Amino acid sequence: MTNTKQYGFTTTILHGDRQKTIEHGSLHKPIHTSVTYAYADARELAAVFQGKQPGYRYARQGNPTVAALEEKITKMEGGIASLCFATGMAAIGSVFQGLLRQGDHLVSSSFLFGNTNSMWQTVAGQGIDVSLVDATDVKAVEAALTPATRMVFVETVANPRTQVADLARIGALCKARGIVFVVDNTMTSPYLFKPKTVGASLVVNALTKSIGGHGDALGGALTDTGCFDWSAYPHIADNFKSQPVAQWGILQLRAKALRDFGAALSPDSAHHIAIGAETLALRMTRSCANALALAQMLEADPHVAAVHYPGLASHPQYELASQLFAAAGGLFSFELKDNVDCFEYLNRLKIGILTSNLGDTRTLVIPVAQTIFHEMGQQRRAAMGIGESLIRVSCGIEDTADLLEDFRQAMPA
Ligand SMILES: *Cc1c(COP(=O)(O)O)cnc(C)c1O
Repeated sequence: MTNTKQYGFTTTILHGDRQKTIEHGSLHKPIHTSVTYAYADARELAAVFQGKQPGYRYARQGNPTVAALEEKITKMEGGIASLCFATGMAAIGSVFQGLLRQGDHLVSSSFLFGNTNSMWQTVAGQGIDVSLVDATDVKAVEAALTPATRMVFVETVANPRTQVADLARIGALCKARGIVFVVDNTMTSPYLFKPKTVGASLVVNALTKSIGGHGDALGGALTDTGCFDWSAYPHIADNFKSQPVAQWGILQLRAKALRDFGAALSPDSAHHIAIGAETLALRMTRSCANALALAQMLEADPHVAAVHYPGLASHPQYELASQLFAAAGGLFSFELKDNVDCFEYLNRLKIGILTSNLGDTRTLVIPVAQTIFHEMGQQRRAAMGIGESLIRVSCGIEDTADLLEDFRQAMPA
């Protein structure tokens, strides 16, 4: 099947590997376990090492199974190139390690995944100035920019309070100022939203979540959308400048972040994630439908104080989310009224599983303030809109009626 026809999202993922010669007619890209790759001709070996000829050398910076997944992610995001990492955090860490230097300024949404919030503290300790802003409003982002601002970082839908960043306006602002715009697309996935459409320079996906989708492999990816002009970026090392400008960013990230720091994705995990990705569209459709049905039911329940889901008309960014995303995602959070014991409610759930992680086929539920956001303390939680009784729900693909009944029966009589 070698042709150049444009297929739909799922067809592209399913048949992408076979667009190239694939070993023994194998339907899946095989799992290549070799650490190193040999050449019969010493000149060829040298040419590969000097970047004059494509080829694998040492698996820390490239492996055929991982490369097949990288290509898949690039197609899913409509980008020009991707890099895979051992985890989503490694992908985020690599952006800073590879592109920022002491004295640079980073503007980030203050509504963040907990570990990314923790990473900003690390980054700040290394001499990079970090400003946290309310990214639901482009004016707050603009007000924070300084001549030293090199990068703006946002999540599409923030985990766990579901604030939606003002993505299109922030993208336009970054483009006008020549600033790298990094969008963490984990919560929406490329099936619901392609950050390239709002001018993102780099897209982060935690492959551990919806793309892998089964909670059986960790992984992360960075995609260069092709929107950013790397010729204007001050920190590209001279040795990458012999290559076409469009590749400068990804070449430096592969060398400075992946090769030097070594958070390489294992070929086994790449295989698991590639299999999971085949059903991303089907799973997202079901989990988004489940999230909407559950959020609507809980919003109407007298024991519930608040439900935070961008698919509800009561959500502050409901309009924005409807314009940007194909659906509002599989994750929401809610708060019970003070007279309902949050832990007792959780203990009465039979289907919802008490654990962290999200984007799994199973519905996962966690009290946020006491677990994943415990370390940051009450003050910072309050600033992020995280109440002490906030429950996060990552909807799986269970039958909708079973899920509704489970969350209903756990309410006090
Ligand atoms: C989980 C998550 C990450 C980190 O991914 P890991 O694979 O767990 O390191 C980053 N961003 C968001 C929004 C996430 O939900």
